[in-house]
Amino acid sequence: MEHAAALTRAPAVPVPFFTQAATLDAVWPLAEANLAEVVARGKYSHGHMVERFERVLAEHIGAAHVVGVNSGTDALVLLLRAIGLEPGDEVIVPAFSFIATASSVVLAGGRPAFADIGPDDYAIDPAAAADAVTDHTRALMPVHLFHQLADLGALSAVADRFALSLVEDSAEAVGMRWDGRHAGLLGSGGVLSFFPTKTLGALGDAGAVVTDDDRVADAAAALRHHGRFGRTLAHFPGIANETVLPGINSKMDDFQAAILLAKLTRLDADIARRAELARAYTERLADRPGVLRTPTVVARDVPTDPVFYVYLVEVERRDELAAHLAAHGVGTETYYPVPLHLQPCFAELGYRPGQFPVAEAACAHTLALPLYPDLPDTAVDRVCDLIGGFYAGRADL
Ligand SMILES: *Cc1c(COP(=O)(O)O)cnc(C)c1O
Repeated sequence: MEHAAALTRAPAVPVPFFTQAATLDAVWPLAEANLAEVVARGKYSHGHMVERFERVLAEHIGAAHVVGVNSGTDALVLLLRAIGLEPGDEVIVPAFSFIATASSVVLAGGRPAFADIGPDDYAIDPAAAADAVTDHTRALMPVHLFHQLADLGALSAVADRFALSLVEDSAEAVGMRWDGRHAGLLGSGGVLSFFPTKTLGALGDAGAVVTDDDRVADAAAALRHHGRFGRTLAHFPGIANETVLPGINSKMDDFQAAILLAKLTRLDADIARRAELARAYTERLADRPGVLRTPTVVARDVPTDPVFYVYLVEVERRDELAAHLAAHGVGTETYYPVPLHLQPCFAELGYRPGQFPVAEAACAHTLALPLYPDLPDTAVDRVCDLIGGFYAGRADL
């Protein structure tokens, strides 16, 4: 009987690290109508659909300004330029993040200064950030990773104490709120990334600067468009056709805006589904052999709204587990394998291994599991069974 059961067992369905086929199907009629409208109007970048998306998203997150650009990375560079970063200015960033956090500082003409992350939230430790302040420090840029905000209360206090601009790498943080205020709006400004895997993902690259500061918004809007002031000129009187800032071409694509407007209609439902899946993972994985840590939401002085963009565990023998899962058709990602201070492109800054132990430990043990609205409950079961089987020494599970 056992033999027969094994023979009739359905083949395991692969679990990709990311897919959005079903999500797209659900919004396709609206997306298609928006796309057709772009074609009919004939303006394909920085056009009518982009403006509509900026307006609708600004309302959704409660921002005075959303400035659509080509990627989250461009948004970081333009935000840092928009606050007036000058050559030699230092920007304090965490040692654990996506590379663009630090490379954007260099591209904006500044120098990244790294600080370790705290033990609980994968975000910059406020005390370490304060210790990194020098006479050249101009800004503090926390990053909100995976599912929750950095400690914006303590970090705002550090920024105030040293008279620094607070800018947020909130690329992953759509939907996250600090005491009701959306990520990116706690200081001078923040960014959003609409890279396809992000919580609000396009079908290509796109991003935005978000800010309540009119002047930052105007400067970012000019810089994305060759430094030309296509919108309000109030802060730059007397300028009509002249280019006053050397800008770049980072206009947002209207086809991406068309897709994003459609997906925005189900963003809240997607966020709820992500939370449900995260809960299911944690129920199955918490305190299991080999699993060192499942995600926790750190209590702050004010209410915060977490959003599960990434479901991140810390595990023993991380790379072996990832290979085991891959061999069974389950995709995972390592966020992030190398701490920023040890990236070759920042070697000349002179940081050493061992300097930021919490960040370095995170790089060694963290593994992101599949998490997206399309993911069925059965896939969570399968991933957890495979993880259990791996640490129980069973290759068949
Ligand atoms: C995704 C991401 C970015 C960059 O966004 P892109 O749209 O991919 O350029 C920057 N910082 C963090 C923390 C991110 O996760």
